[in-house]
Amino acid sequence: MDFISSERAVSASNYAPLPVVLAEANGVWLMDTSGRRYLDMMSAYSAVSVGHGHPRILKAMREQAERLAVTSRAYYSDVLGPFLTRLVELTGLDMALPMNTGAEAVETAIKAARRFGCRRRGIPDGQARIIAAEGNFHGRTTTIIGFSSEASYRDGFGPFDGGFDLVPFGDAAAIGKAITPNTCAVLLEPIQGEGGIIVPSPGYFEEVRAICNERGVLLILDEVQSGLGRTGRWFAFEHENIRPDGLILGKALGGGVYPVSALVGTRELMSVFDPGSHGSTFGGNALAARIGLESLAIIEDEHLVERSAELGAYLLGRLSELRSNIVVDVRGRGLWAGVEIDPDVASARSLCEVLAREGVLTKDTHETVLRFAPPLTITREELDWGLERVERVLSRAVN
Ligand SMILES: *Cc1c(COP(=O)(O)O)cnc(C)c1O
Repeated sequence: MDFISSERAVSASNYAPLPVVLAEANGVWLMDTSGRRYLDMMSAYSAVSVGHGHPRILKAMREQAERLAVTSRAYYSDVLGPFLTRLVELTGLDMALPMNTGAEAVETAIKAARRFGCRRRGIPDGQARIIAAEGNFHGRTTTIIGFSSEASYRDGFGPFDGGFDLVPFGDAAAIGKAITPNTCAVLLEPIQGEGGIIVPSPGYFEEVRAICNERGVLLILDEVQSGLGRTGRWFAFEHENIRPDGLILGKALGGGVYPVSALVGTRELMSVFDPGSHGSTFGGNALAARIGLESLAIIEDEHLVERSAELGAYLLGRLSELRSNIVVDVRGRGLWAGVEIDPDVASARSLCEVLAREGVLTKDTHETVLRFAPPLTITREELDWGLERVERVLSRAVN
């Protein structure tokens, strides 16, 4: 069976997959239909931080699915409380609201911020504005793409309602200048992932936090991709001495098997919600809560945050030593690295195809950047196996 043709015949082409047909996965390894093995250096955009088919995730999932799964939030369950309690403990925040996908949790944060502005800061209803960064990626709903600076995300999908102001990422003073009496929040990724693994200079978030405090504006961080150990800390905001008012989590929270996301925030922010103001049929269901709780426990018990810091430094070191005329820049934090390719010499997409033939799967981002973000469970030996191939492909490209 030609799975590529059959999928292409009936699937809307909103993605351009690499020509690999996957059939199985285990840990950091993926298997195609012919039994070929690939190292996963992408982890489904960080959704698979605990690796594929983690036995504890599968066990929790099976047990919970048999016991209690979806009931809607019309009732309490014996797992949602414990899950949200753990989230609140880990983040140092007060309350959480569970959703499913990252984009839904971002939407939740936008609603929270606007209502907060309206009710607590006296901004007229319908006038609240949010400052975001150029090059942002926060998901694909119409509201969210309405403040994307990426033309291909927006083209033909308007009208957009507005209410967002964009500033350059990494420039704290620009935020200070953009704040008006109607600004309710600043929404940022600590590291821009889809924007090309852009790491702002040290001190940026301390400055942004100080500006937000001074002007009475909320700071909301989208850690859907950077959170839960990816950058070598539980949360990327911990690299600087700050805490956001609202924190958006997703991807890895679902243990690589199920969509689980949440907005976690201060009591002041989260108390803008009252019954009827927001919801999701599947959000916070017992199965999701159990999987979320188990994912957090695995990250903790297997010391994946420490592993990300340690192996991440090693990964970045090895990549930085690459001698190749196609590599313009190497950057990253924890097990999350971006290698910027000179587009005049090679395309990141074609390098991904060559890497796939060598047994390493990753995906370009922003057209010119190769991302490397393996499951945090990867061993040093497995990472070496991948790096050898990456080094071979990138240095071969020199000639
Ligand atoms: C992936 C991502 C999202 C959107 O998550 P979905 O689950 O795809 O809706 C939002 N923000 C960031 C930073 C992301 O990387």
